Amino acid sequence: MTAAHEQRETLHVDRIYPAHDDRTESAEFRINKHRLVRKMDLGCWICGIKEKREVHHWTEWSWWNKVDPEADLSLLHVIDAYGFTADDPTMPMTSPDDIRNLVVLCEKHHRHPYFGVHMVDFPTWIAQKVVKPGEEVTRDPGGRTAEAAAKKAA
Ligand SMILES: [Zn+2]
Repeated sequence: MTAAHEQRETLHVDRIYPAHDDRTESAEFRINKHRLVRKMDLGCWICGIKEKREVHHWTEWSWWNKVDPEADLSLLHVIDAYGFTADDPTMPMTSPDDIRNLVVLCEKHHRHPYFGVHMVDFPTWIAQKVVKPGEEVTRDPGGRTAEAAAKKAA
């Protein structure tokens, strides 16, 4: 049996972005964000809290010009956080701001360097959704909030 232990790793990421329009919040995104956060009042998809909610794109907005919409639709059948893909299974994906590509996350599970989907590997990130209450699979050795961690990185 292996005793409980902590294993620190450094994740190296070299993201390659295609040319894309300057990032703006589209009307479609605003409408869908309002629907998810205000009308449906969804909490963070990982932890359920409703403080500091943000809306994440499963497939990154800035990579959209590289994305095969049919492959993206196939992915969204697997990652169908709220059942929108199942509701209309063949409707083509034409925009990264489509509600099927969006998920509500708290600031921590979105951008924190030790917890956020943008910052940790997928197995670590997704495990946070299924751990038993009181258990953890990752931690910030400095105990920082997402906001404090972002300030330090800047
Ligand atoms: Zn969360």
